[in-house]
Amino acid sequence: MPNIFSPDFSETPYWWKDWRPHDDSLSDVPKETDVAVIGAGYAGLSCAIELRKAGLDVVVLEAELPGSGASTVSGGQTSGGANVGKKPTGRKLDSASGSGREIALLQEASDGYRTFERLVHDHKIDCHYQRSGRIVAAWTHEHLEQWKVKLDKLNRHTCTDGHVMSTPELRAELDTLIYAGGILLKYAGQVHPSLYFAGLLTVARSIGAAVCSRAAVARITRQGAAFLLATSRGSIVARRVVITTNGYTGEFMPDLQRRVIPVTSHQIATEELPEDLRRSLIPNNRVVAETKRISNYYRMSPDGKRMLFGGRARFFRLNPRESAAILRAQLVARFPQLRDVKIAYSWGGLVALTFDFLPHINRTEGVYYALGCNGSGVTMMTHLGHKTARILIEDAGLETSAYGVPLPSNRLYRGKPWFMPAVGTYYQVRDVIDKAKDRA
Ligand SMILES: Cc1cc2nc3c(=O)[nH]c(=O)nc-3n(C[C@H](O)[C@H](O)[C@H](O)COP(=O)(O)OP(=O)(O)OC[C@H]3O[C@@H](n4cnc5c(N)ncnc54)[C@H](O)[C@@H]3O)c2cc1C
Repeated sequence: MPNIFSPDFSETPYWWKDWRPHDDSLSDVPKETDVAVIGAGYAGLSCAIELRKAGLDVVVLEAELPGSGASTVSGGQTSGGANVGKKPTGRKLDSASGSGREIALLQEASDGYRTFERLVHDHKIDCHYQRSGRIVAAWTHEHLEQWKVKLDKLNRHTCTDGHVMSTPELRAELDTLIYAGGILLKYAGQVHPSLYFAGLLTVARSIGAAVCSRAAVARITRQGAAFLLATSRGSIVARRVVITTNGYTGEFMPDLQRRVIPVTSHQIATEELPEDLRRSLIPNNRVVAETKRISNYYRMSPDGKRMLFGGRARFFRLNPRESAAILRAQLVARFPQLRDVKIAYSWGGLVALTFDFLPHINRTEGVYYALGCNGSGVTMMTHLGHKTARILIEDAGLETSAYGVPLPSNRLYRGKPWFMPAVGTYYQVRDVIDKAKDRA
């Protein structure tokens, strides 16, 4: 087996070379607050920022270091509605007009993208954000047809601004022959995920939110009209509680744990590429997401020197070298011209799938939650954190958000995703079969 790793191969996320989770302050957990937010990712911080702007006292409790979850390790692809309700079967997209709820979900996702852009713009967050456009790469002709139906809805109800690319246009955008076709979504883009997170953290702290590291919440109990939260660094009483733990939701809330399914998403970064490859792979610097059931996604690094390639390599535990080998094989299948390129970084993080493939904000046992990114949360979880804050500030009903319905559960699932290796592998095999049939 040839060595596929560069001499400086690292098992840390590529993004952490610019900003990695750390905390120089380790501030104490205050004794009381208006709102306790559990989990310091995009959702927790955007919620905290909005609450502080309204003058409320906010404490963000983080089990590890701020940004230790998915928010500093993602692919950094941003969009406003393209992933709403994305099922691995791909069957959901075939009603031409869209139901009232579907339209509301799309419109809110689109508004959510503007929430994200406003935060970046208003706070001058230096995070390489570019509205560079996104290519939806059709794995089969059937997927392309399904996407044409979805595209019509996206163009009608969201800011997406997409069109089906001709074959020459696709060839000019992407130097591979593997896809059956492609759609260009112009109102979509890319961000450096850990610099975006670092910007939110700076804003939250600068306007007075306490962000407490290594304060894992172990238990929440009612105390009159308020809540007592027992953390690993002391207790705190909060009038309101918001849970934003997403794929890292643990046993402290068993009711929520059995409604979100944690799944690892893996990524690799190549070594620095030769000039000709840097220029030719994705010449217009789009981000790319495939239509497969178990999708791959990729882009160039912000400096344009590396390819960053992600997906769910497998649905059972893998070390970063094993996942790198699988992703690299998938990368070379798309870009044979990268066959001699070495892998310099490999990492992963947890996303939260839900039983209806949608994120949700709601309440359980009196506490609010914003959970269930389904793998696409840079803009969506930012938005849902913000929206939950607005609901608290305005004392508004959950129905003011299209995502404000309870997370569904399944009686066979108690919080341990025993079925994922079988289900995930089944979908991966179906992707291979579909491709073979499509080629035939
Ligand atoms: C490899 C990878 C690639 C991705 N690519 C993309 C992409 O290109 N585009 C996109 O839109 N999305 C992408 N995502 C998804 C996106 O990163 C997530 O949806 C988003 O970061 C979730 O943010 P969050 O704030 O909800 O949760 P997280 O950032 O996961 O934060 C949850 C936090 O809760 C904390 N926590 C858990 N339990 C407790 C407790 N008991 N007490 C206190 N704290 C607790 C955790 O430590 C963690 O820090 C990707 C994810 C991964 C892993």
